[in-house]
Amino acid sequence: MRIAVLALQGAFEEHRALLKKCNADSFEIRNLEDWNQPKDGLIIPGGESTTMSKLLHELGLLEPVQDAIRNGLPVFGTCAGLIMLAETIEGKPEKRFSTMNIVARRNAYGRQLGSFFTIGKMKGIEKEIPMTFIRAPYIESVKDGVEILAEVDGKIVAARQGNQLATAFHPELNEDVSVHSYFLKMIRDSKK
Ligand code: GLN
Repeated sequence: MRIAVLALQGAFEEHRALLKKCNADSFEIRNLEDWNQPKDGLIIPGGESTTMSKLLHELGLLEPVQDAIRNGLPVFGTCAGLIMLAETIEGKPEKRFSTMNIVARRNAYGRQLGSFFTIGKMKGIEKEIPMTFIRAPYIESVKDGVEILAEVDGKIVAARQGNQLATAFHPELNEDVSVHSYFLKMIRDSKK
């Protein structure tokens, strides 16, 4: 299993460390040449979605990545990665992948209270998992084909649509590998 990790900015090294713990290989995507390597899945890390969007556009990566996701490449977006996947963002016109049938709100918890830690349940994972939120978005609503996987205080914080997985929190910032294992299983299942 070889996972591409978008590495333009943000928390990509932490994702690679957790993948390693799960015995999955990974490599960094910084340009089109990197992108053209064979891969079984893609992780879009947290960071700053406006910057990420701008860099993707400038590097000519936005459309090839978007096409691959549309064609079924398994993808996992965390935080800013969730924003990149969301079809609709309240008041945000900038270019994103927009492949997932969700409406998300950026910096949804407010700038001051936006960062917090909790422990919660996610569908498909047996135990409770750590959830670290950093100036996080949440999912306001989901449309056709999207399964809600986790809610915290009545807000949707994880969802899946076919081969697309998105979390508002950062599983890569804790030691627990459950969400990454879930994603790797999603990839294995998609090959069956
Ligand atoms: N608030 C950031 C954004 O809107 C996301 C924060 C994060 O990824 N930790 O892009």
